Amino acid sequence: MSMRLILLGPPGAGKGTQAARLASRLGVPAISTGDIFRANVSEGTELGQLAQKYMDAGEYVPDEVTNQMVAARLSQPDAEAGFLLDGYPRTEAQVAELDSILEANGHQLSHVVELTADTDEVVARLLNRAKEQGRADDTESVIRRRLDVYAEQTAPLVQTYADRGLLVQVDGMGEVDEVTARLTDALGVTTD
Ligand code: AMP
Repeated sequence: MSMRLILLGPPGAGKGTQAARLASRLGVPAISTGDIFRANVSEGTELGQLAQKYMDAGEYVPDEVTNQMVAARLSQPDAEAGFLLDGYPRTEAQVAELDSILEANGHQLSHVVELTADTDEVVARLLNRAKEQGRADDTESVIRRRLDVYAEQTAPLVQTYADRGLLVQVDGMGEVDEVTARLTDALGVTTD
């Protein structure tokens, strides 16, 4: 099924896990800007060195840098027939960039899914993930900052896409399988 989707939601809502599951059901690539930045950090690329200081502080990497990276990724052949964006767009400037990329290709978004989550629950999840994976951006003060940045810069995009009639809201709390089932139901994806 050819779908062009965005997955929105606060850090810790389970976007990465659900994006991977949903993308494999849909046969489209899950494109996570956070994963691309982390890969660049571990490879020590110039992009990674630039991104790391923002990531470690819980701040967003500047739009020009992120937009350029996403434009390059979306021009890869595997994204031609659809994609699921996880963690992008996060700012109005990124929304505008994505609009122009889509327009240049004569494509449109299918849906924008907001995975909703309870703040206390996401903090608990992130702290737990910090223990398990040791991510540098998962200390409590950085987690709080990431949630604030999300509330300030990204939460308003929910309304932007609602105004375009593209928004689908899905409760991200509960078991992983349960949330996946809610997502596939909400998107009308047939399961086999
Ligand atoms: P994530 O794994 O999606 O939570 O992303 C981890 C970090 O990567 C974020 O806290 C930001 O520093 C950076 N990042 C990921 N996606 C974006 C984006 N769309 N715009 C700016 N920074 C981003």
